[in-house]
Amino acid sequence: MKVPLLDLGAQFDSIRDELMSAIEAVMESQRFINGPEVAELEKQIAEYTGCASAVGVSSGTDALIVGLMALGIGAGDEVITTPYTFFATAGSIWRVGAKPVFVDIEPDTFNIDTTRIEAAINERTKAIIPVHLFGQAAEMDPILALAAKHDLFVIEDAAQAIGARYRGHSAGSLGDIGCFSFFPSKNLGGVGDGGMVVSQDEQLGARLLQCRNHGSSPKYYHAWVGGNFRLDTLQAAALLVKLKHLEKWHQARRAHAALYDELLAEIDGVVTPVVRPHNESIYNQYVVRVPRRDACQKFLGEHGIGSAVYYPLSLHQQECFADLGYSTGDFPESERAAAETLALPIDPELNDEQIRHVANVISEFVAAG
Ligand SMILES: *Cc1c(COP(=O)(O)O)cnc(C)c1O
Repeated sequence: MKVPLLDLGAQFDSIRDELMSAIEAVMESQRFINGPEVAELEKQIAEYTGCASAVGVSSGTDALIVGLMALGIGAGDEVITTPYTFFATAGSIWRVGAKPVFVDIEPDTFNIDTTRIEAAINERTKAIIPVHLFGQAAEMDPILALAAKHDLFVIEDAAQAIGARYRGHSAGSLGDIGCFSFFPSKNLGGVGDGGMVVSQDEQLGARLLQCRNHGSSPKYYHAWVGGNFRLDTLQAAALLVKLKHLEKWHQARRAHAALYDELLAEIDGVVTPVVRPHNESIYNQYVVRVPRRDACQKFLGEHGIGSAVYYPLSLHQQECFADLGYSTGDFPESERAAAETLALPIDPELNDEQIRHVANVISEFVAAG
């Protein structure tokens, strides 16, 4: 039995007609830049996440960059985030000229350990970027309290968490700015790159809108420098089709997660994901700790099962950030997660039999010692 990590082809088969006709409509209109689908998607994402404004951008990475730029964060500023995330989180901070400052993660949720943030704040700190890793929101209440106390911005990296909830609120709607990615492997994925930046502040929303179009307002007049961070009409059209199915896909992932939780609980040495009672995860990934991780991944592969390591090297250990002065050992939980975790297939298109097969193969691996 084959169990792919991701089965975008199966998803495409299930929505082929809707998707092709939406794409064809854009081709017929020839409105590739700022077509009406872009504004419609922005309206629907604002509604879906409970935000006052939503601005489509060219990727999740650019959502972070646009957010940082619109808040005026740059050279001389520090931004606190986690070292256990996709590179873009810290890469974006670096790209606007600011300095990423890392804080270790909680061992159970893999999200930033909020009890360690205050020690990293100084007079140069301008913002905190919590990452809602693997589809579960970071602990936002203490983060928002610290931000209020020290007058900092909060930019949520919700690239993996569109539709996730924290105490009933949508991920991305709690901070000053929320960033989503429509990279094809995200729960809501485009047919190429795309992203969205959301805010509860309409004035900030207007600034985000200017930023994605060279800071222009009105056209050809620039009070400040933005960039070309636009979302293609074709992407917006595809995303509008997929958004209609998103909740159903989240539900399928949650059902797979519940089945894994039950089956894997009986296997010695396997640690299943912890979702806090006030959180609703969208399980962009289902990440477990397994004994002898690399051998386990190889064994799964030999049995036709896809898996992935998110992420094999913490960001404080990346060569490009050597100048930040961190060393191995600085963030032990992040480093331990990088060494011990494995993402298992949780694609909505999988069936229970496939999930059971994955659990059986892991059980076999552990029993063989
Ligand atoms: C995917 C992702 C991004 C970047 O999104 P792109 O659309 O690939 O640019 C940023 N942060 C996190 C946590 C991500 O998972």
